[in-house]
Amino acid sequence: MKIGVLALQGAVAEHIRSINLAGAEGVPIKKVEQLDDMDGLIIPGGESTTIGKLMRKYEFMDAIRQFSAEGKPIFGTCAGLIVLAERIQGDEEAHLKLMDITVARNAFGRQRESFETDLPVKGIEEPVRAVFIRAPLILEVGAGVEVLSTYKDEIVTARQGHLLAASYHPELTDDYRLHQYFVEMVRSRSMAPQQL
Ligand code: GLN
Repeated sequence: MKIGVLALQGAVAEHIRSINLAGAEGVPIKKVEQLDDMDGLIIPGGESTTIGKLMRKYEFMDAIRQFSAEGKPIFGTCAGLIVLAERIQGDEEAHLKLMDITVARNAFGRQRESFETDLPVKGIEEPVRAVFIRAPLILEVGAGVEVLSTYKDEIVTARQGHLLAASYHPELTDDYRLHQYFVEMVRSRSMAPQQL
């Protein structure tokens, strides 16, 4: 099972390491053609405006929308979550507009630009070690979106069917259980009878 990591900007190598630990094969994705061989895709953290620009430049927008339309799972972390969102607070134009959520960028304020915490996540037994770096928040979710975790009453992990989003960086610790959760999403999808 192959899981691509969009390699235009951001924490790519760390995601690949975590995917490999979770029992799938992580592949850095630099060209749209590579998506054809992938069963799932991770959009990493970094800077969402830059990632959005590079995605447009290298024609990833329609290719990733098509990937999603085929039901293939996508996991956005931090800036990757912003890129997945249908709406960004303020007048900023959204990017992929795949997930029915409204996000606020850099939502934790200056004093708390970066911090780590143990975060309970629905579907994972023990809390997950989460690193927040100039992290976004999910302000609103649509009816089809399940909230998987909150931090101080703010939504920081959510799932909409085959789409998973986290405000933080799960790849910057040794705890790869969120990657394992995503690998399971990819595995159960590829084993679903209607896909055979
Ligand atoms: N603040 C960044 C943005 O708005 C996201 C930060 C991150 O990915 N660590 O794009």
